[in-house]
Amino acid sequence: MARERYFQSQVVEVRELSELVRHVVLEREDGAALPYTAGQFIMIHFPDEHGVEINRSYSMSEPPEALPGRFGLCVKRVDGGRGSELIHSLGEGDTIKTSGPYGRFVLKNAPPRDIVLVATGTGVAPYRAMIPELRARIEAGHRIWLLFGVRTVDELLYHDEWRDLATQHPDGFLYRPVVSRPRPEASWSGPVGYVSAFLDELDAAIAPDDAIAYLCGVPAMIDDMRAALLERGFTRRTVKTEKYASPPPPGKKVALPPGKAR
Ligand SMILES: Cc1cc2nc3c(=O)[nH]c(=O)nc-3n(C[C@H](O)[C@H](O)[C@H](O)COP(=O)(O)OP(=O)(O)OC[C@H]3O[C@@H](n4cnc5c(N)ncnc54)[C@H](O)[C@@H]3O)c2cc1C
Repeated sequence: MARERYFQSQVVEVRELSELVRHVVLEREDGAALPYTAGQFIMIHFPDEHGVEINRSYSMSEPPEALPGRFGLCVKRVDGGRGSELIHSLGEGDTIKTSGPYGRFVLKNAPPRDIVLVATGTGVAPYRAMIPELRARIEAGHRIWLLFGVRTVDELLYHDEWRDLATQHPDGFLYRPVVSRPRPEASWSGPVGYVSAFLDELDAAIAPDDAIAYLCGVPAMIDDMRAALLERGFTRRTVKTEKYASPPPPGKKVALPPGKAR
């Protein structure tokens, strides 16, 4: 029997993580399970201002085994953004049309020695869902890097969890946060700039042919880091990406690079 693609999900918990980012926990209203793999995303479906249904994607930020039957999202409110403002308007008990899970941005089996996770902002959400898997891999002898770039210190989402992991596994989990525009009152003593600030350290510490990289967040970071890693000997197979962007509005054609036919 074909499975219904869409299902309603109900908000069961809301937690503000920063001025612009909230963590929302939802569960399927029909009580069915929602099996997923850490790194996958869910879609929300809602009508736009013309009544046309549009969708937005959000990575699941809770480990699958943490909340059976439930899933968490971590969403940044974008000014005038339809999907993110909708999520920020929800309260406990509200429901929303959803579908999923989708996506292949998941940890590979039998990975190489170094696993380099790179995120900007809420792009850290899939990695948070991976924490139990990351622990297992560290314990199996892998080394995990998290290069995490944000604008302001309060956007270092789940910072304490990353710091705890690094404290528990000083050689196995290398947490590298970087802030591009620290506010003077935030007393940030870490590096200022972008995730590319850590490329020199990676150059000195890892062998690209024994490493895999995952890049998640704003498209500009992904394009830049991907190019930088490919130059260093990573390959298309060893750089996995998840670009956080909205789909084009309904009816709008996507521009293709010259010479590419659809
Ligand atoms: C696979 C996948 C997973 C994703 N996971 C997450 C997630 O876990 N958390 C999350 O917050 N987002 C995530 N996104 C991005 C999300 O789907 C939306 O693109 C984002 O919430 C903006 O949608 P919106 O409807 O609010 O804004 P829109 O109505 O699409 O855009 C409104 C305006 O804001 C601009 N804009 C759009 N995004 C941003 C931005 N990030 N910063 C500044 N301006 C912007 C647009 O260019 C436009 O001008 C993911 C995207 C994908 C493809």
